Amino acid sequence: MPECRHALHCILPPYILDRLANSDVARVRRLAIDAIAESAAMRATRATLASMGAMAVVPSPRGRKHRLVYDARNGSFASLPGRLAREEGGRASKDRAVNEAFLNSGYTYDFFKKVFDRNSLDDRGMSLISSVHVGRRLNNAFWTGEQMAYGDGDDSLFVRFTRSLDVVGHELTHGVITHTSNLEYRDEPGALNEHFADVFGSLVKQWRKHQTADEADWLIGNDIMGPDTDAVALRTLTEQPAYEDDPLLGTDPQPKHMDDVYTGSQDNGGVHINSGIPNHAFCRASLEIGGEAWETTGPIWYRTLLALSDTSDFNEMVERTLQEAAVLFGSRSLEQKAVRGAWKAVGLAA
Ligand SMILES: [Zn+2]
Repeated sequence: MPECRHALHCILPPYILDRLANSDVARVRRLAIDAIAESAAMRATRATLASMGAMAVVPSPRGRKHRLVYDARNGSFASLPGRLAREEGGRASKDRAVNEAFLNSGYTYDFFKKVFDRNSLDDRGMSLISSVHVGRRLNNAFWTGEQMAYGDGDDSLFVRFTRSLDVVGHELTHGVITHTSNLEYRDEPGALNEHFADVFGSLVKQWRKHQTADEADWLIGNDIMGPDTDAVALRTLTEQPAYEDDPLLGTDPQPKHMDDVYTGSQDNGGVHINSGIPNHAFCRASLEIGGEAWETTGPIWYRTLLALSDTSDFNEMVERTLQEAAVLFGSRSLEQKAVRGAWKAVGLAA
């Protein structure tokens, strides 16, 4: 993956797609190869756009919440966005994928606006554009840099990707990251990029469901898992793996401690793998403090995201969260102690 800065952000990590592409089940294998081909085609398009400087931000007509949902009608990425199916202020569609994309992108907008006073991904009210029914039975969802694109899933391993608020929140957070720290999509900065996307994806869901840290499921993608897998989710921020010895998915590879950090070159240096370490620290700190995480660890992490740079690593992340916890809650506060304790538990603080 030569061009990391302009990466295509997919909800399914390469380690899942690669495993499925080598499945003993022909149907699973074929769909996985299709999904990989789709993302390769999209990456080529992205690279061309990036080289042309065409990082399109569509301004909202009124500078506030503005959603557009398109139907790609099973077309490939070349056909994006597709036909307009629902717009802000317009009527609901008969198509549930259209309505889910509309509602879930709206909840994500509302979360960032109400909790952090952030006006859309760029903080200037850019339009939230989604395309649904991308590809045929496509097992993936993407943030392309300009818009969201959702597959329908194969109804076996995965179902409609629009169903999941944490998936939508995750992908749109990649847009927030692009407009803030812009963390490089490789190695530790890349794992932090994935980490922030999981953190705010989970927080949007907790906020929408009015859940305290104790009540939250801390899962990513549990609503898109299909009937033919026992995996509870794609990832979990808790200590337990999301799946173990699953016939299709194998075992969740995410480490929860620096002792198990991945040092290979796959997945851009393990961006979807090593995100498990800060993810787990965030979950631990939130549970230790208690209450609603978007009021406690959420603001600490949001301020940290704004303060980091494109090359920030895990150590900088740790230092900055401790500083922001002190600014927001006081040094030696319960909150700061909980954050320090959580980093210590995952092997990132003394
Ligand atoms: Zn991601």
